[in-house]
Amino acid sequence: MRLELKDLPIKLDQAEFIMASVFALAGSSKSKRRATAAMLVHLHQGFPMIISSGVNGTEPGTSNVMENDDLTLSLPTVIHAEVNCLNRLEDYNLWAENNDILFCTDSPCPNCLQALEKEGVQTIVYAREYRLTDHLDASDIKMFHLDLASVETKMRSAIDRMNEVIATTPSV
Ligand SMILES: [Zn+2]
Repeated sequence: MRLELKDLPIKLDQAEFIMASVFALAGSSKSKRRATAAMLVHLHQGFPMIISSGVNGTEPGTSNVMENDDLTLSLPTVIHAEVNCLNRLEDYNLWAENNDILFCTDSPCPNCLQALEKEGVQTIVYAREYRLTDHLDASDIKMFHLDLASVETKMRSAIDRMNEVIATTPSV
């Protein structure tokens, strides 16, 4: 189900900052068409802990090519970011706890959503919404759509802040 941001279980500011870091992570995807990332976050006394993460990509050891020549189609060999995130979770015998939040750059596709439901994910926050939304509305998972422009503002302010800090650090 898609809910309004006023019902977000954490502060909007914090959600946008976490999403900015998820987009930074998506930068490591080799996709030329749409780089995506997913990050499962556990909130410990209000502080985010990364439990697992993933970007979209191909099976290790296989070709990095993820789309057809004119970049209109993703190849079926591409493993979605959400699935990579879940696989990593399973590798360590971890699971999503009730209050954990899955941050995704993009709203999950029907297949990923099914896998996320199976894994016990109850809350998803995303920033780009795929044009098909029926499966999102039909799901029991609570879903929140952040404003992409606000996330971008957070990312820029984080870079500005980082540069400020670097400027005040004496060089040795
Ligand atoms: Zn998917």
